[in-house]
Amino acid sequence: MTSPLRAFAALLALWLALVAAPALAADAPLTVLISIDGFRADYLDRGVTPTLSALAAGGVRGDMRPSFPSKTFPNHYTLVTGLRPDKNGIVDNNMYDPAITDKEFTMSRREVNQDPRWWEEAEPIWVTAEEAGVRTATMFWPGSDIPIHGVLPSHWQLFDQKVSAQTRVDTALSWLDGPVAERPRFLTLYFDDVDTAGHHEGPDSPELNAAAAKVDAAIGRFLDGLKARGITANIIVVADHGMAPVSQDRRIFVDDLLDMKAFRYTTAGAFLALNPAPGHEAEVDKALLKPHEHMQCWKKADIPARYHYGKNPRVPAIFCLPQTGWEITSHDYHPRTVDVGDHGFDNFAPEMRAIFVANGPAFRKGVRLPTFDNVDVYPLVAKLLGVMPKPNDGNLADTRPALTHGGRSD
Ligand code: AMP
Ligand code: ZN
Ligand code: ZN
Repeated sequence: MTSPLRAFAALLALWLALVAAPALAADAPLTVLISIDGFRADYLDRGVTPTLSALAAGGVRGDMRPSFPSKTFPNHYTLVTGLRPDKNGIVDNNMYDPAITDKEFTMSRREVNQDPRWWEEAEPIWVTAEEAGVRTATMFWPGSDIPIHGVLPSHWQLFDQKVSAQTRVDTALSWLDGPVAERPRFLTLYFDDVDTAGHHEGPDSPELNAAAAKVDAAIGRFLDGLKARGITANIIVVADHGMAPVSQDRRIFVDDLLDMKAFRYTTAGAFLALNPAPGHEAEVDKALLKPHEHMQCWKKADIPARYHYGKNPRVPAIFCLPQTGWEITSHDYHPRTVDVGDHGFDNFAPEMRAIFVANGPAFRKGVRLPTFDNVDVYPLVAKLLGVMPKPNDGNLADTRPALTHGGRSD
């Protein structure tokens, strides 16, 4: 390029950066990703969630298949990274990684799970967006209260289950009150009431419907708040997994098969993930790697390919999956409250399907998408934000039929 041309190009780039781009950005709709933990896809048809029904009727709905295992932390991280748990590093709610610490990662153990190394096998969308100059805000989302690759959302809070649904909504809205140029362009909201009711009272209980109605009302309050502020938004409502009824009559006792001292497990219940105690490998293999009436166990290398699970060093050596609705436990396990609903089962089971509803200017009206994998949410969100997605397991083609102009920005 000759130098006058180069000078003109530089001036044009400067003008674009200083004047045109922020103007475009300020006008762009807000992208909102709402997670209702444990909201099974079919709950939407119960007639108890008028706000969600209206969003679906005026936009898009679809059943979403969670990734394996169908637990909270792995799937929330999949939704915002597009990578299945085996690749995103959050392989379970409970994990051991001797390369990080001898302490177990659990959802509640903040001093352990706040170590960024657990999270840095992947990059969540808010980090990529912030680095691209797009402001983000997370009113809870697993991983959003930890600096990942040194980056936090512009607005975030330490997770606290006691914060009410209404307060979560009002806090998120307050973050949208600043000057337009400083307003977040990506926002998450997270509600746990439906998952809690599903565990304690079961997916078919009146308490479940009441929790769904309560979260629905909170989302209605959020939409009213957006309207009052004149903010246009593309809203995506998802869940991390569904919920299956479980019963005291459908239990597999691992201590009937094996001495409890022969292994150490990270998770039991909707699956059993374990490492043999040193010297007990052959005994554990012999007891577990044979046919069982209501469960199947594999060495991690032999987990069927459709689960995309078992390559990550954080996955324990042996993995047992019960029939959906059965639980793996031991005779000496006596929890204070006995749950009647659970998840973590086969992600292909219909009971594990999660809600997907999308509404806003980017979405067509009245579209019902065929069942798709939750890895597809990430490239969709990246597209809405105009942010270059990182390499991922998702496919924009699966949700493209739901987009106005087939997803083209013209
Ligand atoms: P699960 O039983 O796998 O569905 O886990 C659900 C629980 O995860 C909820 O009851 C929440 O209290 C908890 N949870 C959700 N987000 C977070 C977070 N960011 N930090 C800690 N715990 C969380
Ligand atoms: Zn969950
Ligand atoms: Zn749960």
